[in-house]
Amino acid sequence: MIKEMLSGLWLTFRTQFRRRVTVQYPEERPQVPERYRARIVLTRDPDGEERCVACYLCSAACPVDCITIEATERESDHRRLPKAFRINFNRCIFCGLCAEACPTYAIQMSPDFEMSEYTRDDLIYEKEDLLVDHQGKAPGYHYWQQAGVDVTHAMGYGDQDRPPEDPRSNIP
Ligand code: SF4
Ligand code: SF4
Repeated sequence: MIKEMLSGLWLTFRTQFRRRVTVQYPEERPQVPERYRARIVLTRDPDGEERCVACYLCSAACPVDCITIEATERESDHRRLPKAFRINFNRCIFCGLCAEACPTYAIQMSPDFEMSEYTRDDLIYEKEDLLVDHQGKAPGYHYWQQAGVDVTHAMGYGDQDRPPEDPRSNIP
C-alpha cells in the first residue's frame, strides 16, 4: 500500500519537470488531421451544382437517425435535389457513416470542430447551413456526368470506364 502511494507521488513529482503541452486555444490553433470527423458539409460538383441527389442513403445509414431529407426534382432537367436537408447535431456522434454511404461524395466530414452553441436549436443545421461552395475532398468528381440523366454513352464507354473486355480473347 505504502509502496503504491510512494510510486504515485514519485510519478507526480517527476511530471512537474516535463515540458508543458497545453495548447493556448483559441489563440493557438490545434492541428487536427485532414480526416478528422467534425462538422458535416454538403459539397458541390465542378459546375457549382449541388452534388446531393436526395437518395436518402445517408439518413438510412445514420445510426442515431439525425438526418432528415425531403427530395424534389428540378423541372428544367429533371435533376433530383434535396428540397430540405437537416442534420440535428445534438444527436450526431460524428461516426462518418453518412459520408461512407453517400454515392456522390456530396456529404463529407470536415475538420471544423468549432461547433459550440448556447442553445440546442442552434445545433440544428438546415441545407443552407450545410452547403459549401467547394468540392471538398473529391475535387473534379462529377457524379451527374457519370450516372445522371446526362449519360448518353453505352455502358463501358464513359469518361471513367474501361472499354469492355472481349471474353473470346481469353480463349486459348
Ligand atoms: S456522422 Fe454518424 S451520427 Fe452524424 S449524421 Fe453522419 S451517420 Fe449520423
Ligand atoms: S448526401 Fe449523399 S447519401 Fe445523402 S441523400 Fe445526398 S446523395 Fe444521398
